[in-house]
Amino acid sequence: DGAKKDEAKGGGPAAPLPRGAAPGIRFEKVVKRFGQNVVLRELDFTVEPGERVTLIGPSGSGKTTILRLLMTLEKLDDGVIWIGDQTLWHMERNGKRVPANQKHLHEMRKQVGMVFQQFNLFPNMNVLRNLTEGPVRVLGVSKDEAVERARGLLEMVGLADKINAHPSQLSGGQQQRVAIARALAMQPKVLLLDEVTSALDPELVVGVQDLLRDIARQSDLTMLCVTHEMAFAKDISDRVLMFDQGQIVEAGPPDQIFGEPAEQRTRDFLQAVL
Ligand code: ADP
Repeated sequence: DGAKKDEAKGGGPAAPLPRGAAPGIRFEKVVKRFGQNVVLRELDFTVEPGERVTLIGPSGSGKTTILRLLMTLEKLDDGVIWIGDQTLWHMERNGKRVPANQKHLHEMRKQVGMVFQQFNLFPNMNVLRNLTEGPVRVLGVSKDEAVERARGLLEMVGLADKINAHPSQLSGGQQQRVAIARALAMQPKVLLLDEVTSALDPELVVGVQDLLRDIARQSDLTMLCVTHEMAFAKDISDRVLMFDQGQIVEAGPPDQIFGEPAEQRTRDFLQAVL
């Protein structure tokens, strides 16, 4: 039962990817406004545990806002967001739902990893410290264990030889690989990907996409991905949600959404981007 043991200690360097039950995600009548602008209108959707879901749709339709809500970078105006059996912005107290306190938000945030369009590495730290800083400070992992895990992850993303480099010494594709490794170093249960290849030079896109596809196949992470790259969406997703004006227009497996979309708005969108 080596696999079980690995699971118990969160996987060693030989198995750097998160394993074990991942929570699902559920949005219930979620409303998000920016001033007068209602970005999400009573949005309902579910991502099953371990499912890979991609959000597609026109720019400004609210896709990134969904990821930012899950990262607790934005607060919702109404409705409920669940990660597993826990609510994100509320907590249960004596059978009542009360606003989440900082401790609850902190615990919830730890379950969620995000990779951004603009890498967002710590520019003043080398690659190793980019990967160990969070685990040591936030998760309380020992320095040695954090370094060991970082080595395993850098091996996996093909950058073991860059362990002492600074972000400015790396190409965009390499920086994004480090950012992916850094997100995984936090042992998240849910991984959010926001346009992770749109800032990359075209020749670097495929390598990062291949890496993410391998991670999707080899881990049990629940993944929610926003992308304008339809081939990537097709490749990585169990299900695609077509999104417009803060609501889901259509949802289904990639073959259906890309092959025989039922809704005119989906057809129009795909025609414009493909
Ligand atoms: P998408 O990811 O689909 O392109 P976003 O979620 O980024 O869409 O944006 C949805 C809408 O919310 C847009 O109209 C955008 O202008 C608005 N918006 C996003 N973030 C903010 C913010 N911090 N302040 C004000 N408006 C915002």
